[in-house]
Amino acid sequence: MAQKGKIFVVGFGPGDFNHITTRAVEALQQSEFIIGYKTYVELIQDLVSAKSIVSTGMTEEVSRAQEAVRQAEAGNIVSVISSGDSGVYGMAGLVYEVLIELGWTEATGVEVEIVPGISAINSCASLLGAPIMHDSCTISLSDHLTPWNLIAKRVEAAAMADFVIALYNPKSGRRTRQIVEAQRILLEYRSPDTPVGLVKSAYRERQEITMTTLAEMLEHDIGMLTTVIIGNSSTFFYDNKMITPRGYQRKYTLGEEKQPLRPHQRLREENEPWAMNQETGTASHDFAADPNAGRMKSNIAITPVSTPTKSSLEMAATALAMVQGTTATKATPKLVQQKMESIFELAVSPGVANKFFTPQQMMALAEVVGDEGTMEYTPDHQIHLKIPTTEPEAITEKLREVGFLLSPIGDVLSLKACDFCYGEKADSIPYAEELQATLGGLSLPKTLNIGFNGCGMACYRAVFDDIGIVYRKSKFDVFIGAKPVGRTAHAAQPVVEGLEPEQLIPLITAIIEEYKANAHPNERLFKYFKRVKKILHFSYQDMSSKIKVEPAPCGD
Ligand code: SF4
Repeated sequence: MAQKGKIFVVGFGPGDFNHITTRAVEALQQSEFIIGYKTYVELIQDLVSAKSIVSTGMTEEVSRAQEAVRQAEAGNIVSVISSGDSGVYGMAGLVYEVLIELGWTEATGVEVEIVPGISAINSCASLLGAPIMHDSCTISLSDHLTPWNLIAKRVEAAAMADFVIALYNPKSGRRTRQIVEAQRILLEYRSPDTPVGLVKSAYRERQEITMTTLAEMLEHDIGMLTTVIIGNSSTFFYDNKMITPRGYQRKYTLGEEKQPLRPHQRLREENEPWAMNQETGTASHDFAADPNAGRMKSNIAITPVSTPTKSSLEMAATALAMVQGTTATKATPKLVQQKMESIFELAVSPGVANKFFTPQQMMALAEVVGDEGTMEYTPDHQIHLKIPTTEPEAITEKLREVGFLLSPIGDVLSLKACDFCYGEKADSIPYAEELQATLGGLSLPKTLNIGFNGCGMACYRAVFDDIGIVYRKSKFDVFIGAKPVGRTAHAAQPVVEGLEPEQLIPLITAIIEEYKANAHPNERLFKYFKRVKKILHFSYQDMSSKIKVEPAPCGD
């Protein structure tokens, strides 16, 4: 009778030999065939003496599993390899599925052994400190096999339930929006200051570790090899470590040798008021609603929890309103806020048309920026502030008191108006102010500047902004898609001449809405226009076609 074959499904951990299990090495060394994705095969090549190595491309998992089954049924010992754990987004499930299709049973079929490995959530957590000390989950953002709507629901459920979350497959060359959307969902439930760890290529040659926050995580490099670990509402940073307290501080005084509760007292109900009462099935203390419960560090203040009633749009409107000093429609945040010191960034200017700073404004700036913050004057007649603080509201209030116009910084819409000849050519100023009030600070795929000039001189160079608006003979000329910098810089394309003033805001709003809905993340307006060839009914013309520039290694 022919010898029965065997399939090992091996998780070899993060990829360095110190973190592979002894059983995994044994399996690899016993195997006559090693089957895996070629990058993984290269990682373990030095460990194996297999007679045959079958490496295939990334999307060929099914053919790898089928080949493994074929070889095992022919009497061979085969290892199918996965990085991390073979049972966590690895090959174990697929091998079983292929076997089941063929009518395999444990009693009659080839032998199968799943060899566990260290999954990315564990390896990455160890490099960050101790972020998954409490309930946690893994969510893959890859929607190649799972519908995006289901992934989004899982992200929302995990966010709502305060899990520490490890996001696998956060981004790839073509999948760039999923991580943006996941961040948006998470921000509905978690503080922007929630600690986030980004680990790329854990325990491999090009390992990179980044500690950031939920609000800022997209400013860092996130790719196919990155695992994103989002802290829960108790997670904190300490000395470059990301730590989630387990809850010992609820019953123990961690700095004391002598504990207030004796060992036999610790399991009593009065000392665990958060636990479920075995008769009523409820907890005597609503711990989840207690903002001060579970905090380890006394210097972390917490804003009380409120009922989750707002949509993400309302949340965004509230955040924007805070910077703009206007009133959002509904204002109660639904997340568990964790106030940690963070860098508050914003731009200030004396007004849309006004370019003069008053002494009071300069003094207020000095006061709010203090010794630790920075001020940077920009070519757009704004001052960018970076201020370490736990109280951004107090700063915005102080700055508004002295008449500053406040704007967020980053991938937002900024209006850059001329000074209207020191206010002499004032006819179009109300339109500029209305534009600022309607669209200023709007979050977009990439920074977008609208240049607004009060006469045909256009001396503030509106036609070199993403959208240029020039007031001329009581009407407006509109330009779209300048490339403001680089060796192939060019002016924007004229798209409307003589627009009636009342049509200006609807037209610009429609352009912005189309761009916001359809542009790729980080795609500037000129690139978007060039790609889609049409914005509203305006057709693209190549404004740079007359320029011939040799490519340069540092970019154009
Ligand atoms: S664009 Fe016209 S209105 Fe504005 S500052 Fe220049 S000259 Fe004056």
